[in-house]
Amino acid sequence: MKNNLIKFSVAIIGAGPGGLTCAIYASRANLDVCFIDKGAPGGKMTKTFTIENWSGDEEVKGFELSLRMLNHAKKVGAKHIFGNVIKVRKENNHFLIYLEDGKIIQSKALVIATGMNNKIPDIPKIDYYENKGVSYCVICDASLYKGKPAAIIGGGDSAFEEAIYLSSVASEVYIFVRKNKPKAEIGLVKEVENIKNIKVLYQSEIVQLIGEKQLEEIKYKQNGEIKNLKINHLYPYIGSIPSNEFIKDFPIFDENGYILTNENMETSIPGLYAIGDIRQKQIRQIVTAASDGAICGKLLANKIKKH
Ligand code: NDP
Repeated sequence: MKNNLIKFSVAIIGAGPGGLTCAIYASRANLDVCFIDKGAPGGKMTKTFTIENWSGDEEVKGFELSLRMLNHAKKVGAKHIFGNVIKVRKENNHFLIYLEDGKIIQSKALVIATGMNNKIPDIPKIDYYENKGVSYCVICDASLYKGKPAAIIGGGDSAFEEAIYLSSVASEVYIFVRKNKPKAEIGLVKEVENIKNIKVLYQSEIVQLIGEKQLEEIKYKQNGEIKNLKINHLYPYIGSIPSNEFIKDFPIFDENGYILTNENMETSIPGLYAIGDIRQKQIRQIVTAASDGAICGKLLANKIKKH
């Protein structure tokens, strides 16, 4: 029944900075390691234009850092498996990881590093406009609408950071922030304020999307007034929710769906670890995800013998 079973000592689900760093540490300790991802390795980094707070790089492109981490993990022997994990079981002290394409990975230890999925704003017909002007990735899609007016929703680091890149592609960028002040770090806010074609609209909320085949216009509410604006591309950056569907049966979550671990990244289930943004933690940054990965990889090296 399990002909398509592939065995590893350590399986890591998710290939963001946490997963890839864990793969590097565990592989360098001579463990046989795989990392599984359904998308381009690098996680959220692949969708970030410029990163300015990765130690040692004053400025690095997200895709470039992703590629460097991926190549590093592969060079030290970690195996990259492309696939969508649909469920996980634990049997006889081993984990069984079921992929959508029928493969089953067996491992002694399992590391969850799947991060988060985009939150979707509650605007009527937003799903209809996806790929017709609405996108969750500025760097992937903005060039399709070069020279046209754009909007971002959100007041956090992601919204402000992406607006900076978007301003170099779009004619104008409007940032819709629902509160009366931003949540983004002050340095980013100042940078945005100095860019002429970005306008931040505080206490504002998009209420309607207009356009037959493509997004052409929006209606928004500000100070009780409804106004219209020509917008051809819209990017919600309103935060994320933990990506945990495939492992929901394990009793390892807090009330918001984040995984609870101790400082060694261990969950309450022996052999099951969680690292990066999916953990319950205060600070979610590339460098803190990488730190989680290093701690976990080092611990695994001490605990697991190669099969
Ligand atoms: P955040 O959760 O920090 O911010 C989300 C923003 O969206 C808030 O302003 C929030 O408003 C707003 N929002 C939420 N729901 C809605 C809604 N329905 N309609 C309108 N606005 C809404 O998310 P980010 O993705 O910006 O950042 C997540 C984490 O990642 C942070 O810790 C951040 O620092 C980090 N990050 C790190 C980067 C790096 O390392 N270089 C880059 C980017 C992000 P409100 O405040 O009212 O809730």
